Amino acid sequence: MTLRTLESLGSLAGKRVIVRCDLNVPLQDAVIADDGRVRASLPTLNALINEGARLVICSHLGRPDGAPDPKYSLAPVAQRLSELLGKPVAFARDTVGESAHDAVAALEDGEVAVIENLRFNAGETSKDAGERRAFAEQLAELGDALVSDGFGVVHRKQASVYELAEILPSAAGQLIAAELDVLDRLTENPERPYTVVLGGSKVSDKLGVISHLLPRVDRILVGGGMLFTFLAAQGHKVGSSLLEADQLDTVREYMRIAEESGVELVLPTDVVVASKFGADAEHVITPADAIEETPFGASGLGLDIGPATGARFAELIRDSKTVFWNGPMGVFELAPFAAGTKAVAQALTDVDGLSVVGGGDSAAAVRQLGFTDDEFGHISTGGGASLEFLEGKKLPGLEILGWQ
Ligand code: ADP
Ligand code: MG
Repeated sequence: MTLRTLESLGSLAGKRVIVRCDLNVPLQDAVIADDGRVRASLPTLNALINEGARLVICSHLGRPDGAPDPKYSLAPVAQRLSELLGKPVAFARDTVGESAHDAVAALEDGEVAVIENLRFNAGETSKDAGERRAFAEQLAELGDALVSDGFGVVHRKQASVYELAEILPSAAGQLIAAELDVLDRLTENPERPYTVVLGGSKVSDKLGVISHLLPRVDRILVGGGMLFTFLAAQGHKVGSSLLEADQLDTVREYMRIAEESGVELVLPTDVVVASKFGADAEHVITPADAIEETPFGASGLGLDIGPATGARFAELIRDSKTVFWNGPMGVFELAPFAAGTKAVAQALTDVDGLSVVGGGDSAAAVRQLGFTDDEFGHISTGGGASLEFLEGKKLPGLEILGWQ
């Protein structure tokens, strides 16, 4: 079965439509640092507004502990949404309480309300299916239909993503449809050479995707914090850099499989090593096999790939027809360690073919470094969801919408 699309819900004019978005934006002191996810939800919202539906928008934000926490209020997001939609957006101070019911009851056709953070309610992410179901029943009182469009959460079995879709007539929104279209192009006969670039903080987060992609791609380029586990697996010392000692055997196994199957697993030849973690740290460029031979000795911290590696990665990316990139090459949040990420991002914009950026921090990185979304083939709103899709896993939030 394929994904149920908006059309399958019939006419939505005058109906109360709950739209499950992923508006989980990075906030710095209640200011939205990157509104990419808000923008990505606009096509579905505008389509529903034009149809005359009454929109009840819901989302999670951050990780509140199943109870209200003003730090994670969706209020600034509702404000931003109002600016982007160019129309008033009502805001309910609770999720399924009196304020939410009042806000929904006041909606006219084509009007929009945002209800407060789903995760202010323990039922949303509960491990207990009964508790999730009970919360979903409360949510369901606010709508006649569900449009599920929070691609970033489709890999989670959560009340608004899964149980709510069982209760109400439900379909996928345009963002989910667009994301799946791109992921399909990455899995079904991708044009070659096909290069995957992996970075970010933890190798253990990304191991599943490496093992699944190894037989399917031509090259895997490894940067970010995970590169040190690979260097250590080759027998190199990595100072005080991120190292996941319990993953060394797994990483060695990947290197063996890559070698056997002729997949190029490309590791950095030079890295940027710092005296400490901070923008004002002293730092030097050193060969990847001599990390402890800098003035900082064993306390040196590898915080970026080096310039030779950046240039090599860029060359391999530009020479590809399909590129998927997840995970920054270094600690791009600190200016002295952003060069590797910038080199990779720049190369992706030059790809003559399909270039896809996946992952919350990776998306934030390219925007922070001054690139615009249209320079890439696609910037995915879902890091974990994209990775799990590429790992070949079943995603509950899609299965419940008819996708197999
Ligand atoms: P994404 O959200 O795109 O999937 P991750 O969450 O896996 O990416 O990783 C992003 C984080 O990885 C960034 O905050 C970045 O600072 C960090 N990172 C990258 N390289 C290193 C490194 N060498 N040491 C420590 N952290 C790193
Ligand atoms: Mg991240």
